[in-house]
Amino acid sequence: MDLSTLRSQFPTLAQSNDGYPLCYLDTAATSQKPQLVIDAMNHYYQCDNANVHRAAHQLSARATSQYEAVRDKLKQFINAKQRSEIIFSHGTTESINIVANGLTEQLSQGQLILVDSAAHHANIVPWQQLAKRTGAVVKPIPLTADCRLDLTAYKALLEQQPAIVALSHVSNALGTLNPVHELVALAKQAGALTLVDGAQAIAHLEVDVQALACDFYVFSGHKMYGPTGIGVLYGRFDILDSLRPLLTGGEMIKTVSFEHTEFNSLPNRLEAGTPPIAEVIGLGAAIDFIQALPREQVHAQEQALLNYLQDKLSKLGDIVLYAAHSDNIGAVAFNLADEHHQDVGILLDQQGIAVRCGHHCAMPLMQTLGLKGCCRASIGVYTNKADIDNFIDAMKSVKDLLL
Ligand code: PLP
Repeated sequence: MDLSTLRSQFPTLAQSNDGYPLCYLDTAATSQKPQLVIDAMNHYYQCDNANVHRAAHQLSARATSQYEAVRDKLKQFINAKQRSEIIFSHGTTESINIVANGLTEQLSQGQLILVDSAAHHANIVPWQQLAKRTGAVVKPIPLTADCRLDLTAYKALLEQQPAIVALSHVSNALGTLNPVHELVALAKQAGALTLVDGAQAIAHLEVDVQALACDFYVFSGHKMYGPTGIGVLYGRFDILDSLRPLLTGGEMIKTVSFEHTEFNSLPNRLEAGTPPIAEVIGLGAAIDFIQALPREQVHAQEQALLNYLQDKLSKLGDIVLYAAHSDNIGAVAFNLADEHHQDVGILLDQQGIAVRCGHHCAMPLMQTLGLKGCCRASIGVYTNKADIDNFIDAMKSVKDLLL
């Protein structure tokens, strides 16, 4: 595959903003969608639109087989052992909520939940709520001065035998990569259940949940070139099967009477109600897109671009980079001197550059860094060197204007 032509598969990127070509550096918030994802969803609505699982007619049979085929694709994509270990949710946030809610009966007063200090709020708040319900205690896993997860402190915390360890695979705010294989292995030795939030990793890294040996791995379709409104919860069968369902109702039952309801088996047990069918089909197309890529080549290209971006930004002067390690994935966090991140973002937008500014749903991390917020430039498979050069030129003019 010619990587230089990849960009033409993303129709949104062909536009200009106020005469400037759109330079989209906000992929970590949501990725753009290739035409084949848009086409797959349109095709479903135009030709196969029906509810899944529960009708005798052909439309429903077609919708069901496309929908369930995506579960098989996902099983293979992340190397799950069984298709019933793949649960469709509406996104990473819901996936983590399914787990945190589902463990309510399994946790008791005083038990410990360890959470990555750099985690997204979606991987903090559901654990806090679980702690409130059960009397368990949430403790952050500290970071080192260069914003890596502090292994010494982590090992010390593991001696307290936590019940749950919740990690980010890649930090959304900084792009830092956690050594999740090692972290999960240590947590397992300590007897903890492990959840890895892969929202920022899944589009950039190959994930093998059996090799990782985590209990749960979660991600969102919209950050991997798929649609919004669809997420994935992978869970090891036994523990997944022990979760109390977050939602109850249709689809997730075997029998219902007014006296008693018998729940269905996995995966339906955790998928109450009509699912986001078009979104699942769109996610299937996104997996096809990713799997057709030469992934090693794409990874090398993304790392080279990210390092180029880090280097160019650092040479601009008056830029504060946060945790800009060479092995970061997908994103660079920065501020321009002590200028407000929002001002920088607005001035960049006036030159067609889309970056994200704010706390990046990681307020505890911002507090650790002593920041109210920062700017984040993030890349995807369609980002090219011209995007980075445009961004750097725009930053020069923002700097001239503000400093
Ligand atoms: N976790 C991480 C690391 C994220 O980057 C995000 C989204 O930015 C989320 C969780 C929440 O994902 P969603 O909003 O798709 O549920």
